[in-house]
Amino acid sequence: VLENDSAKKALSVELKEIQEKQKESDRVKEMCLFREKLPAYKMKSEFLKAVAAHQVLVVSGETGCGKTTQLPQFIIEEEISSLRGSDCNIICTQPRRISAISVAARISNERGENLGETVGYQIRLESKRSEQTRLLFCTTGVLLRKLVQDPSLTGVSHLLVDEIHERGMNEDFLLIILRDLLPKRPDLRLILMSATINADLFSKYFGNAPTIHIPGLTFPVQELFLEDVLEKTRYEVKSEADNFQGYSKRRRQQQESKSDPVTEQFEDADICSVYKSYSASTRQSLEAWSGSETDLGLVEATIEHICRHEAPGAILVFLTGWDEISKLLESVKTNSFLGDPTKFLVLPLHGSMPTINQREIFDRPPIGMRKVVLATNIAESSITIDDVVYVIDCGKAKETSYDALNKLACLLPSWISKASAHQRRGRAGRVQPGVCYRLYPKMVHDAMLQFQLPEILRTPLQELCLQIKSLQLGAIASFLAKALQPPDALSVQNAVELLKTIGALDEAEELTPLGRHLCTLPVEPNIGKMLLMGSIFQCVNPILTIAAALASRSPFVLPINRKQEADEAKRSFAGDSCSDHIALLKAFEGWKDAKRSGNERSFCWENFLSGQTMKMIGDMRLQFLDLLSDIGFVDKSKGANVYNQYSDDMEMVCAVLCAGLYPNVVQCKRRGKRTALYTKEVGKVDIHPASVNAGVHLFPLPYMVYSEKVKTSNVYIRDSTNISDYALLMFGGKLVPSKNGDGIEMLDGYLQFSASKSVMGLIQKLRGEVDRLLKR
Ligand code: ADP
Ligand code: MG
Repeated sequence: VLENDSAKKALSVELKEIQEKQKESDRVKEMCLFREKLPAYKMKSEFLKAVAAHQVLVVSGETGCGKTTQLPQFIIEEEISSLRGSDCNIICTQPRRISAISVAARISNERGENLGETVGYQIRLESKRSEQTRLLFCTTGVLLRKLVQDPSLTGVSHLLVDEIHERGMNEDFLLIILRDLLPKRPDLRLILMSATINADLFSKYFGNAPTIHIPGLTFPVQELFLEDVLEKTRYEVKSEADNFQGYSKRRRQQQESKSDPVTEQFEDADICSVYKSYSASTRQSLEAWSGSETDLGLVEATIEHICRHEAPGAILVFLTGWDEISKLLESVKTNSFLGDPTKFLVLPLHGSMPTINQREIFDRPPIGMRKVVLATNIAESSITIDDVVYVIDCGKAKETSYDALNKLACLLPSWISKASAHQRRGRAGRVQPGVCYRLYPKMVHDAMLQFQLPEILRTPLQELCLQIKSLQLGAIASFLAKALQPPDALSVQNAVELLKTIGALDEAEELTPLGRHLCTLPVEPNIGKMLLMGSIFQCVNPILTIAAALASRSPFVLPINRKQEADEAKRSFAGDSCSDHIALLKAFEGWKDAKRSGNERSFCWENFLSGQTMKMIGDMRLQFLDLLSDIGFVDKSKGANVYNQYSDDMEMVCAVLCAGLYPNVVQCKRRGKRTALYTKEVGKVDIHPASVNAGVHLFPLPYMVYSEKVKTSNVYIRDSTNISDYALLMFGGKLVPSKNGDGIEMLDGYLQFSASKSVMGLIQKLRGEVDRLLKR
């Protein structure tokens, strides 16, 4: 009997295995059918012929036609069938981490393999690949770092650069390098992939490289503008300041600045004139949407309208950023304006989400349930969700801009381009005819720029300049002059000067030991320097936290109607430190304790903190620790106390902050009972209202360092820390003997310090010692 039983068991196990295999092969078959239906499939042989015949090929096609997932697979299949498989080594770059992972996972799935076998990915601080891997998806940043080690990309047979139409800085930079590399690597194949935008530009840049266009397979999408949307939703734009967040905030700004709100809102003269000519009756509602924030009430009303009156189909909402996404998520959860919450699946999709829940976003929801995806412009072209039938477009995206004259960089929502608007609309017509709800009037659409300005023209260039040096690409200015659209001379000069000021480049524009370390740390130079100094000066724990917070985002949330309480909470974290950075640090430490004792939620709630952001900061600080350990600045095996001798010493922490944030310095000048703040570039500045230092009349110490300067109605410094002149003396810029001979002054003119020769000598020696420590 026993024997019989075990035989039965074995049989049933075997049966199960066979069923599993069957299921798997059914799924792969289904995938095959799916792949064959994609527009890219019809172009397979033409594509492969072109790859064989030309070194450079530009492929354009509507988003979702199969460029990213199919073209690299065609190459693999071709190489394997021609038995050249082992020589085939394909790299495909993605502008964003999230798409590198998601695409690699998708292709593995299509091939019925595990991620990391034939297809793998590598992003900053994380990878999944093996010996077997023939196709590697990586971020453009990762490829640029690979180029440092191996400038000729030995062993790479095909390089595909994806999403070049986005004109990201890294992609534009990579194209310059590749154009120079191609003659030295005649066997390397370069394939540039772009949405149907301006493909000619790239072809010309590569000496009229051949272009293949994959015709799209999309359904018509009806387009509704604000006028129609307001009518359909019967949404009333409220004018009472309290009821309308964005509106009230702008009103406040207007009152502060007393300037014309209309021209303030619209930098773009075209849009401005459109606005002015727009009829007075709709003017009020226009004012409500014209500011920097999306009218979330209108978004809710539109979602509600679709859910009540339109046929089934997923809704994709384009918002400007995480703030808006999380606000809307919260509002859906608490207000449940949709009625029965079990009928809706509301999912966020954002580039800095640690991992995306793949399936939920791409899968069709159960019948009767409506999927609503709240996304940033990441869903515009790199990630395709097939079952979207309705698109709600706020018309904006967060965009960096750089003012070279005032050395000001800001990340603000601004109007998207016509090309982006077209992309967004197309997302609704993947499987059937769809509808696109634009939350702005047609006139604004008509006034939008044709294409967005490339990132290289609207971002500070210091990281790029460091990369040029570490890749040994020669003189910075002449290298950048070879770009598709070269940045202007002043921006380049600012970046080089900044790098000299912080000690990353020497007078001859060559990398210093500090500069070399900064190149290997994939963070902004000032954050990198802060991390290095934090470990040299034995306060690595708090510095890791502050650096991680600066590199991600602020964990402090700003509730609209409880702003005062939120400010109080932040102030109490800061104590008497006069420092937003210390407030960040203490809030994080409080969160960690609360988490350990299991009351994370109430701690976040009471202190107006985002638990999700805290978690991200926690993850990032560990990654930073790994980086420091990789370059030998900490030794993780030695335990936590070794690099933390001064971790509780806030004076030391603030001094290291100064080392990282210099030359972001303002001088605090006493004017009677108040303090006036001055920077060198723009003169008088104000402390941002959200800072713990806002409203402080007198500061104990004579200087302030800050992480960011923003311009709205005034120039504000965000996140500031009050520091002593000693910190600046030790960690600021180059020191020279002062003109009257009785001390030292800093080259940038901020600091004049009277001191005896022996004190000066001592300081120079201490600084020399730090330089020596950086030479490891
Ligand atoms: P393109 O690069 O041309 O925009 P992709 O190759 O990314 O197109 O996608 C082709 C199709 O594959 C999409 O239309 C979508 O249907 C499907 N697809 C891509 N990624 C996924 C995924 N992670 N899950 C499900 N389907 C996907
Ligand atoms: Mg793609």
